[in-house]
Amino acid sequence: MSVVSPSVTVRAPAKVNLHLGVGPRRPDGYHDLVTVFQALSLHDDITVRAAPELTVRTRGEGAAFVADDQTNLAYRAAVALAAWANHGSGLDIDIDKAIPVAGGMAGGSADAAGTLVAVAELWKLDIDRAALSALAADLGSDVPFILYGGTALGTGRGEQLVPVLSRGEFHWVLALADGGLSTPKVFAELDRLRDGRPEAGPGEPARPDDLLAALASGDPHAVAPLLYNDLQPAALGLKPALRRTLRAGTEAGALGGIVSGSGPTCAFLCADQDSAVAVAAELAGAGVARGVRVAGGPVPGAKVVDHG
Ligand code: ATP
Repeated sequence: MSVVSPSVTVRAPAKVNLHLGVGPRRPDGYHDLVTVFQALSLHDDITVRAAPELTVRTRGEGAAFVADDQTNLAYRAAVALAAWANHGSGLDIDIDKAIPVAGGMAGGSADAAGTLVAVAELWKLDIDRAALSALAADLGSDVPFILYGGTALGTGRGEQLVPVLSRGEFHWVLALADGGLSTPKVFAELDRLRDGRPEAGPGEPARPDDLLAALASGDPHAVAPLLYNDLQPAALGLKPALRRTLRAGTEAGALGGIVSGSGPTCAFLCADQDSAVAVAAELAGAGVARGVRVAGGPVPGAKVVDHG
């Protein structure tokens, strides 16, 4: 008789940056950010169970582009938590991806955050939110937000978070692009563009108070014109076809469109659910995206959805 060991499944959301202000390059190579994140109803599901060794298996959207080895962010999250807990790291980690890989939607970060939450539950660890956030921040700048979820203002590298009041549900259409964009390459392109125009050099990024007020009002018509991304010119420079995608989304009736984070996914804010479905259908027919998804936000951060 074979005995299957107990499992824990965690659902971890994608993110979109409604505002992404990028400061000058710091001496350590990083950039200070001021960003407003929103967690969306596009999820990766991460299932963990005890096993003799630590292994990761990725399936679903873009799985062919993810290495199932010790570079996988889920693997690294398990190693980090095992070290913190002084626990052996034998685990099977199964990742069912819906978040596009290298899409600017924090898919790898979602898998890292999801693994932290799932393994902490499987091992019944007594770890508080602050300790989990510290492990998350070491794994990547977006990982703490995926634990947090909702809508939040991020500063530092994006890992210092405070919640943002956001009323109601926002309706998004996501246009997935062919191929990904490497986040470090997009930041390097931004530096190159800025170095060529020193007179336009950035100051410290400011808090987007108008956007925060619009989010509190819950009115997508107020939010849409305030969507802003300093990385967008760099992403468009590396993938010029995205200009057509952005144009097609607003022509299809979206209130506003933006490159998500470092791209190349484009995110379109729509007036309501019906409008989002119509915009998605038109974008799918226009041949400007590899695929389209309708998603809502804000949704909660990584959370346990099943014990097997
Ligand atoms: P972000 O928005 O946080 O900058 P992203 O969404 O653009 O990230 P990811 O999908 O997180 O990009 O992937 C970035 C790179 O990380 C990929 O090219 C991949 O090689 C690597 N990676 C490691 N682990 C994972 C994982 N579990 N899922 C996806 N990518 C992973």
